[in-house]
Amino acid sequence: MQKILYVAHCLLNTASKVAREPREGARQEEELRVAVLKKALERGVQLIQLPCPEFTLYGARRWGHVYEQFDNTFFRTHSRTILAPIIQEMQEYLTHPERVEVLGVIGIDGSPSCGVSYTCRGCWGGELSRRDDLQEVIRTVHLVEQSGVFMEVLQELLREAEIDLPVVGLYAPERERVLSLLDV
Ligand code: SF4
Repeated sequence: MQKILYVAHCLLNTASKVAREPREGARQEEELRVAVLKKALERGVQLIQLPCPEFTLYGARRWGHVYEQFDNTFFRTHSRTILAPIIQEMQEYLTHPERVEVLGVIGIDGSPSCGVSYTCRGCWGGELSRRDDLQEVIRTVHLVEQSGVFMEVLQELLREAEIDLPVVGLYAPERERVLSLLDV
């Protein structure tokens, strides 16, 4: 039987991510990303790439954002629109359990969009150029135990379609939890 795993877009294509300088923890995240890909290849798991909601709205030169900036009807509608064909495709695979097993979905923890167990929140927004408290505003960003907006929408769509699948986030401190999804 073939196994299928849905993954966040940048798990396969890191060029979609916000451009930035290397930061603390990035190396462990990259190691985990590569470990997931290697294990999927070794175990013959087929990977299906979700669309990137941020790239398809704001392109390659976007700033980093926080959850609050995407928590609006426009971002949620965009997420629903680009996820609709993914859900249809998933439904089709799920109607053939004798041939295919869908293992679940891997998001990207910490992302304001694709976080599953963790997203980043903060008081960001508005015109930046004349603020003299910019560093203070930037420092309001913090990790919270909650999904990002795109993953919230994905989980809503899964519930509406009555699809019950594990959804986990790529998060270096919880490495084994992510890799265990590929124990097939
Ligand atoms: S929005 Fe999601 S897929 Fe796109 S770069 Fe961010 S975490 Fe990756």
